[in-house]
Amino acid sequence: MSSKSTVRVRVAPSPTGDPHVGTAYIGLFNMVFARRNGGQFILRIEDTDQKRSNPESEQAISDYLRWVGIEWDEGPDKGGPKGPYRQSERTAIYTEHATKLLDSGAAYRCFCTPERLTEMRAEQRKAGGNIGYDRRCRDLDPGEAETRMQNGESFTVRMKMPVDGETVFEDALRGTICYPNQQIDDQVLLKSDGFPTYHLANVVDDHLMEITHVFRAEEWIPSTPKHLALYEAFGWEPPVFVHLSLLRNPDRSKISKRKNPVSLEWYREAGFLPQALLNFLALMGWSMQDERECFSCDELVSEFDLNRLKVTEPVFDLQKLEWLNSQWMRLLSPEELATEIRGFMTEERLTKILPLIHERLHRLDGFTELTNYFFAMDVGFPVDDLKIKRWPTKETDGDDPKAPLRALNKALKAILEEIETLPKLEAEDLEQRLRDFCERTGWKTKELFMATRLVATGRAASPPLFETMEILGKARIQYRFRQAIETLRGAIKK
Ligand code: GLU
Repeated sequence: MSSKSTVRVRVAPSPTGDPHVGTAYIGLFNMVFARRNGGQFILRIEDTDQKRSNPESEQAISDYLRWVGIEWDEGPDKGGPKGPYRQSERTAIYTEHATKLLDSGAAYRCFCTPERLTEMRAEQRKAGGNIGYDRRCRDLDPGEAETRMQNGESFTVRMKMPVDGETVFEDALRGTICYPNQQIDDQVLLKSDGFPTYHLANVVDDHLMEITHVFRAEEWIPSTPKHLALYEAFGWEPPVFVHLSLLRNPDRSKISKRKNPVSLEWYREAGFLPQALLNFLALMGWSMQDERECFSCDELVSEFDLNRLKVTEPVFDLQKLEWLNSQWMRLLSPEELATEIRGFMTEERLTKILPLIHERLHRLDGFTELTNYFFAMDVGFPVDDLKIKRWPTKETDGDDPKAPLRALNKALKAILEEIETLPKLEAEDLEQRLRDFCERTGWKTKELFMATRLVATGRAASPPLFETMEILGKARIQYRFRQAIETLRGAIKK
């Protein structure tokens, strides 16, 4: 245990994409540990990657963490004594700390240009040795470095890592971990644009925010020696590290959107109860002494013990989640169930859907038939209903009956990739993107739009495609594209 008295923990997502199940999983254990120990749980937004961070992503992360039942004591939207809690608002703090390291000699200015570094790596690759910074600027004369800086040469600040020996640390879950220092690069701390890297900002903030325990995913283990070197250089006491096992796809690879839905939005849109999803995430890292599988967050808090966390690789098994969800659904009274369903088929969603189907609705009882694909997650992809007559083709495609399927598969993959970069789907923007895509690739809009309709709705007839896609939302659209790609793959192989 750390000698600091009050437990303070944090979850520190980077707002660069959809709200990820992994963030909820890590957030959960941090929150539970704080509650168990009467401590504080902090949400810190690590938005130092200026190009990829965006406010929509930050908002979605907060909203979905709250939806699943994770609530913090301090954070960007709540404030608190150790704010600001958004790293982009703390840049002066990082510069000041980088300067301290330069002054003490623990860090140095590196004037190597990106071109030189690329060249260096290419040579290292050719030679078959270690890839890493060759430390050319590490021993530059301080006077010379000063002059080059005064002359306006661009530079980064790098950490002077020990070149031999090893870094040994205790992980509260995994025991002793050893790293030969030779394998650790002279990490960049401050980029040439003056923004800190993850390593510097993370360590400075954990210290200034008085974090006592860092529960984070296993993938950060290789960063820990770099962090420890920083704690040492600053003369600070490091927190206790707890690296939780990474969530896995069923094939045991690190969980990824290609193989498993990862956005919390998907789980809400697929109709999982937040308490069931939270319970499921708890089971990924924890089992109750009596092995019961259905338990609430409060029950977890009252039984939680850091020493009983699991180290095994947790597989994200959707069937198991579905089973657990059904258990939670059974616990609801009919009134509670009705409330959940109203929360799922919200007035807001109905108000958006109704104008689209209004004219096709001849009797009220036709409503469910006309709208089920707006609510259901799985609609299937009716590959046999595809009637692609023209597609961007090569002369030789002529005899290949699978050529249109191949062409569509390629198109869907490219469109999906584009969709994945969007914070949310908007009809006009989608239409423009698909039109541009057709222009670029030679698809006839009529053909591609028809196929897209089948993918998005599972039907050949639907209200205006792009408005429909906007309401269906990113999680459903991504999922249906992925399923269609899978189905096409199967059909091509047959
Ligand atoms: N920003 C890092 C992430 O996105 C935080 C890792 C850590 O907890 O140190 O997960």
